[in-house]
Amino acid sequence: MNAILRNTMPVRNPRTGEVDYHITPPTADEMLATTKSLRAAQVEWAAAPIAHRVAVMRKWADEIEKNKVAITKAESADTGRYRGAKETPEAVIWGIRGWADRAADIIGKAMLEGTSSIMPHIKFRSQLKPYPLLGVISPWNFPMMLSTIDATPALLAGSAAIIKPSEVTPRFVEPLMETIQKVPELAKVLTYVVGGGETGQQLIENVDIVCFTGSVPTGRKVAEACARRFIPVFLELGGKDPVIVTENADLERATDAVLRGTVYATGQICFSIERVYVQEKIHDAFVDKLVKKAEQIELNYPDIHKGHIGPFIFGKQAGIVDEQLDDAIKRGAKIRTGGKSQNLGGGQYMRPTVVTDVLQDMKIMQDETFGPVIPVMKYKTKDEAVKLANDTIFGLSGAVIAGSDEEAYELGSQIDAGGISLQDTTLTGAILRDAEKTSFNLSGMGGSRMGPASILRFFRKKALMTNTLAPQDMREIRELPAA
Ligand code: NAD
Repeated sequence: MNAILRNTMPVRNPRTGEVDYHITPPTADEMLATTKSLRAAQVEWAAAPIAHRVAVMRKWADEIEKNKVAITKAESADTGRYRGAKETPEAVIWGIRGWADRAADIIGKAMLEGTSSIMPHIKFRSQLKPYPLLGVISPWNFPMMLSTIDATPALLAGSAAIIKPSEVTPRFVEPLMETIQKVPELAKVLTYVVGGGETGQQLIENVDIVCFTGSVPTGRKVAEACARRFIPVFLELGGKDPVIVTENADLERATDAVLRGTVYATGQICFSIERVYVQEKIHDAFVDKLVKKAEQIELNYPDIHKGHIGPFIFGKQAGIVDEQLDDAIKRGAKIRTGGKSQNLGGGQYMRPTVVTDVLQDMKIMQDETFGPVIPVMKYKTKDEAVKLANDTIFGLSGAVIAGSDEEAYELGSQIDAGGISLQDTTLTGAILRDAEKTSFNLSGMGGSRMGPASILRFFRKKALMTNTLAPQDMREIRELPAA
């Protein structure tokens, strides 16, 4: 079909506000043909020894390295930032090589063999069979990295993968697809499709397992569609992550950690800190210091290579954040620095915005913000701080900055969330290949994307059992007389 006759989707540039890119979602027939071809190739991919998949994935990492400049350019146009875009191919290469180093060991350790502890004459061996085809649906805040974070371990497990990134940030797909095409063995089992929610739903209809990263409302639709098909789904959703700063915390450390944890990437990180609870005795000193540091942060406008924080990637997000600020101000909150979003050259920017005198039931303390806003609230006792931290529908991550590591640990272990940073904020990425974590409440569903489970969740697990003695004779299994 002629591309002009097909429904194309416009893509907005986050720095200019102009539409400067278009994508063409696949038709239902194209989606079916693509997934059929991936499934056919997956049989050989899964049957090959793990060393083969590791070698192919390493070749892919090498190709990404060669195409770094083009990828950075596209990711930068997608996100309106340069530093983060430049670090993206590095992070993806690091992810591929890191999992390639560990995959054989993780899979090997999960292959169990032994005798039954209930019936010692029964021997067993486990067999791991990868789900044939993984469907990934990913968001716009870290477009390329979040599109590969689940596909990488799945491919090493032996699954094929089809990825649908956000329609808000699809430009990186072209240069990344070039790297996939350079590795023919990989190109048979990995591809991208572009499009919006409808394409996401189409994808779910054609795959065997789904990894979704995005918002709670969309996550619910994805989970429902997967439930209808009885296929497993892993949801990595939003958050409203708290930090508790105790009376004896070092103020320099606390303000540095809170500022970075709230405004890095313009606050557009799922595990950004979005609620700050500070012991009342140090509240004022903490806020004064935080405001001074926040005022040293510069927008990277007009020069993308200068300053610290970029525009909102998704223009409409600025309106959502402004509305939360309006609601807080109307109810008595005070803006200590920063303020509502501003349009600069067509992009929507916001300075780091410190808000005090907030109430726990304000939107700014309950709804996901996804912007560089730092609401600070006083507490009296540690019990109260933990209660406030846990007063949320989310449970992605959290943090504690205290007078000692022990005090931080004691409070951190009471926060209901998957990744808890102590004496700092937003450390979750550090444990990617080491420790598992799951989400609490509405922040997600399913096994951990981190640690060994990251690979093992892509297997269906079988047990093969051998009886080393004669089978039990049915004629001897008689009914019993009444007791
Ligand atoms: P979103 O939910 O709007 O969209 C995510 C993806 O879902 C996109 O690719 C979109 O096209 C697709 N989609 C939309 N409707 C769909 C449908 N009906 N069926 C199937 N797919 C559909 O999220 P977003 O605005 O792109 O991303 C921001 C959200 O992502 C925030 O809530 C953030 O916290 C969350 N997030 C979570 C993590 C995590 O690891 N927990 C990481 C990054 C972002």
